Amino acid sequence: MNSQRKLQDKQQARPETSLRDEASKLPPGLYLVATPIGNLGDITLRALETLRGCDVIMCEDRRATARLLQHYGVATPTQSYHDHSAAPVRTAIIARLRDGARIALVSDAGTPLISDPGYKLVRMAVAEGLHVSALPGACAPVMALSLSGLPTDRFFFAGFLPPRQAARKAQLRQLAAVPGTLIFFESPRRLAASLADMAEIFGDRPAAVARELSKFFEEVVRGSLSGLAQRYGADGPPKGEIVILIDSPEAVPGQTGDMLESDLDSRLQAELARYRLKEAVARVTADTGLPRKQVYARALALSGQD
Ligand code: SAM
Repeated sequence: MNSQRKLQDKQQARPETSLRDEASKLPPGLYLVATPIGNLGDITLRALETLRGCDVIMCEDRRATARLLQHYGVATPTQSYHDHSAAPVRTAIIARLRDGARIALVSDAGTPLISDPGYKLVRMAVAEGLHVSALPGACAPVMALSLSGLPTDRFFFAGFLPPRQAARKAQLRQLAAVPGTLIFFESPRRLAASLADMAEIFGDRPAAVARELSKFFEEVVRGSLSGLAQRYGADGPPKGEIVILIDSPEAVPGQTGDMLESDLDSRLQAELARYRLKEAVARVTADTGLPRKQVYARALALSGQD
């Protein structure tokens, strides 16, 4: 019998109980387990062993998690958890961890804590010196970035934008100078409006819209921000889940370096004509997202106070 065959036989003969025995060797602690974002096959063997070996799985929606657990024959009980759960709920989880429990945290899909619950719980467990471990796996922003064709060396994940236009634009202005690929979550309903605001504030940078990742209708549409805004404005809201990615200011000539400095000067001059130095600096800092120190130094120079 060749060695490959021996290995296969050994794996087939490995009873389910030995998997459970292995899992029960888990040290007590909090386990952050990534789950699929579409394709149920996108879960690791270690994630499944951990889910089997934990005493309880904290999740957002017990019905959504039940579907996954049923698919893989995981019988561990579930309990719901959200970051807005009352503090006593977190205190009770921490007490169980202190008593030696193994507790998994999953979200409905993807990596917990990434625009999903868990941050407050992890912060508390870390502060208590408890064991916290993460089981890596599917994560929509990372998958979208890999597929986007945009630079991957530096990126900034900005999560969901505010739904109201004024707040959305204010946040986009703060991100205009970020020197890396920007990543946003967006709902299909707001996609066209957000792309139009992005085109207005960022200029016509290369961008991508990644939709239904790892699912049957997965697609990545690449183009300029204005082209994408026009396309989705004309077609109406697409179906499914969406990630928007935008190239850095370096992708468009004149958005960084000297040009940005002269742009900064003209913005500052306009504000200095109307406000005192401190107020002008605060307004331009909020507007451009540039470091306050840089704006303040420029304002001093322009007003002859340096
Ligand atoms: N924690 C998750 C993760 O790691 O991917 C993200 C959770 S967040 C509440 C949900 C948002 O992620 C969706 O509104 C959508 O913007 C994005 N998303 C999740 N699954 C996706 C998919 N299969 N394709 C594209 N975007 C997805």
